[in-house]
Amino acid sequence: MRKPKTMRKIIVGGGVIGLSLAYELAKRKHDVVLLEQEGFGEKASWAGAGILPPTCRATAIHPMEVLEAISSEIHELWAEELQQLTGVDNGFRKCGGLYIARSAGEVAALTGMQFEWESRDILFEELKVDEAVERLSFLNSDSKVHRDEIVPNISKALWVPGESQFSNPTHLAALVSACQSLGVTLHEHAGMCQVQVANGSLAGISTGGEEFVGDQYFFTAGPWTEQLIKPLEIVLPMQPVRGQIALYKVDPLSSAFGLPVINDGSRYLVPRTDGHVLAGATIEEVGFDCRTTASEVEELRGWAESFGGNLSDATFIRSWAGLRPATYDGFPYLGKLGDSGNAFVATGHFKSGLHLSTGTAVVLADLADEKEPTVDLRPFSPARVTCHQATEIK
Ligand SMILES: Cc1cc2nc3c(=O)[nH]c(=O)nc-3n(C[C@H](O)[C@H](O)[C@H](O)COP(=O)(O)OP(=O)(O)OC[C@H]3O[C@@H](n4cnc5c(N)ncnc54)[C@H](O)[C@@H]3O)c2cc1C
Repeated sequence: MRKPKTMRKIIVGGGVIGLSLAYELAKRKHDVVLLEQEGFGEKASWAGAGILPPTCRATAIHPMEVLEAISSEIHELWAEELQQLTGVDNGFRKCGGLYIARSAGEVAALTGMQFEWESRDILFEELKVDEAVERLSFLNSDSKVHRDEIVPNISKALWVPGESQFSNPTHLAALVSACQSLGVTLHEHAGMCQVQVANGSLAGISTGGEEFVGDQYFFTAGPWTEQLIKPLEIVLPMQPVRGQIALYKVDPLSSAFGLPVINDGSRYLVPRTDGHVLAGATIEEVGFDCRTTASEVEELRGWAESFGGNLSDATFIRSWAGLRPATYDGFPYLGKLGDSGNAFVATGHFKSGLHLSTGTAVVLADLADEKEPTVDLRPFSPARVTCHQATEIK
């Protein structure tokens, strides 16, 4: 019997999107080359917090909701699969999420989320203030501390059992190791890749004096994708949005309610089981500047330490920043690029790239294999930019 023809796939950009796609394509026995200018997953994919929000496949209607729901399902499968393949536990756990609101604006925003969860059959429970404080008890080992010293002025609190988290740095390490064992050709520190065009079409990728030619090309370079694909004369407007995080280490944590993600207005605390606690995150439009700033980190620390107890006594370890890849309309760019038929893009996942990485990998691999993806990709089509611009010009 003849072996099915394998197609050489070249992926440019080794963040969580590029690595997940490489992993999925390699599982399908394709010949995959992954090119990364620096270290794998060192940018936003490492910098993120690893929160996986609750979803419900049965009620998902909009393609974005479907993508979110299948991504959640695949995360659960991959966590196990990656552990079996590589021995690495990526820390995936259904930890639950506590949402608290203090100001009138926060109460309104949380009530809006509550209505959305209700309409999508996403489980949640309204908590009394004392119940909310109990779920925060892992932040305070001294049970005599008064609840107002733990977190003052809670006006509304919801408990969302379906929220999950994983350790994204560990997940990235597991993906690299899995790609290695599945035979992906991995090039990190490959230098800045450039698109080569000959006779008006995509002819290959060049970097560091080497040229890579494949049957199909995938651009997964985060906020740098706009610049990367310019030689193809395709416009994909992107905006880097900086996020800063502060990291603490406390004695390993435990609580009768587990270690949930704490969502306080627009900020969050993510407790890991080993005692690390992430406090995040800022949302700043400062171009490609990925430095931390003393004022923002101080503000984050002031907020985190206002929870008192374990966090105000904790060791502050360090802070970092990452650039989220944002698009002009809030939807990622997923699909074929232009008329060539052999170029694809997957980027622009903004605040949800870690979550959506699994579903993105599967639908993009389906597209490349000429299978009907489980998600209707029309709202994510890169071609929508041209339509949008044409409408604006009229
Ligand atoms: C503070 C913060 C918190 C976050 N929290 C969460 C969260 O809790 N949950 C969630 O789902 N998401 C979260 N996110 C968002 C998530 O991290 C991003 O959406 C996701 O990591 C984007 O992945 P990516 O692979 O597209 O981009 P990146 O991680 O930026 O990877 C792109 C890669 O392409 C490479 N590259 C660029 N140009 C070239 C070139 N010319 N040649 C070769 N390589 C190139 C870069 O070096 C980089 O490694 C957070 C982000 C931040 C910053």
